[in-house]
Formats: sequence, structure tokens, C-alpha cells
Amino acid sequence: MKSFVQGFLNVLYPPYCVLCGELLPMEEWDRGICKDCGSSLPFLKGNRCKFCGRELKHGDICHTCLEYRPVFAEGIAAFDYEVLREGIARFKFDGARKDGEVFGRLMAEFLLADCEDWLQEIDFMTEVPLDTHKKKTRGFNQAEILCKSISAQTGLVYHEGILTRTRETIPQSKLSAKERQTNLRNVFTAKDCGGKHILLVDDILTTGATLNACSRALYRHGAKKVSVFCLSVTE
Ligand SMILES: [Zn+2]
Ligand SMILES: [Zn+2]
Repeated sequence: MKSFVQGFLNVLYPPYCVLCGELLPMEEWDRGICKDCGSSLPFLKGNRCKFCGRELKHGDICHTCLEYRPVFAEGIAAFDYEVLREGIARFKFDGARKDGEVFGRLMAEFLLADCEDWLQEIDFMTEVPLDTHKKKTRGFNQAEILCKSISAQTGLVYHEGILTRTRETIPQSKLSAKERQTNLRNVFTAKDCGGKHILLVDDILTTGATLNACSRALYRHGAKKVSVFCLSVTE
């Protein structure tokens, strides 16, 4: 029944490649990306910042992470934001849950290819919580969809709702890099994470302020180690 409904929806809203936006032929509907994009996935690779995953010519920490030193132990991102700019906009604002599942599958592919040791070391993953206002207008948290999809592909345990917000804040996108850090002071709280190694998942890393604030809360509640995994990282 589900596949019948899905088939009907696919005719009404033809599936497109989440990376380049091209309409997909039927045999690629399930994968969610076109042959061209699928044959050379534009993953971030080579020498990267150990906190955010940005590609670096030299050294192991990028300018942003040097300036706003992350409290999480390590981090990776699957894509450069520029590659996904339009895809992420569709995913976040058009309520395209299916795109999120495809992005999650790509993140899983990245994790399996690039950080297989993480799969052994990490106890569970959790999502960066969305503020209630955004959840109301958008209807879903994109990080939650990514987590579910990554978990389904890799077997990594996903515990939903470990982190919660204690109050509403000004949207980070409206603030300068410096203001972003203070805006989130003590905004997050967490359930008990006693001695666990946690993978914190979000869609976009910009200055890392949100991930930092979340990591602080996880450490305050006993996390042994926090690693970060984002769908994309901005320049
Ligand atoms: Zn494509
Ligand atoms: Zn960095």
C-alpha cells in the first residue's frame, strides 16, 4: 500500500536529484541522486580541519575553529555547503522529508568510507534540537531525519531528544559570529549521558556555536566524549 501511494506521489511530484536538482529516471528514484552525481560524490576529503571537516591546504585546524575553539573532541562534515546550497534549502524549507532520508544515506556512506572506527567507538548519536518556533512552522527537525536515516544504514544507535532547549533564542542566522556564541549560553540541557561517547548530528556547521553549546550541555551531563557530524560545512 505504501509503495502504491509512493508511486502515485512520484508521478505527481517527480523525484529529483538532491544534489543537482535534475529530474530522475524511474530506476534512480530509490537512490534519490542521479547517475552523474552518484558516480563522483563531492564529499569533503583530503586534509581537513579536525573539528569541522573543512578542507585545508595545511595545518589541522581552520581559522574559524582557531578563533572559536570547539569544546567537542572532533568533527566531520560530508559536503561543502556550496555544493548543497539549493538542496539544503529544499530540504529545510519545503518540508521535503524524503530529501532528508537521501542526505542521511549519503552521510552514512561518508561515515562508512571515511570514519569506520567511529562506528565502533560511538555509543549513540543524537540530534541538535530545533527551537520550538521553527519546529512549529517547519513541522520537523531536519537533524532528526538525518539521524534516523544514518542509523538505518549503519546500525548506529540513535537516541532522540537527549538535548532540549531551556528557552527561546534569537535565530543564529541573524547574529554575528561573536554574538552567536553568547546568544546560546546555557540554552541547552541534556539527559544523563554518564560515560558515553556521543555523536552529535546537525545539517549545517557555520561557526560551530550551536554544536559547541550542545556539546557543553552533554559534557555537563556526564558525556565521556562528543564527536560531531554535519551534512555540510560553510566556507
Ligand atoms: Zn545530480
Ligand atoms: Zn574547523
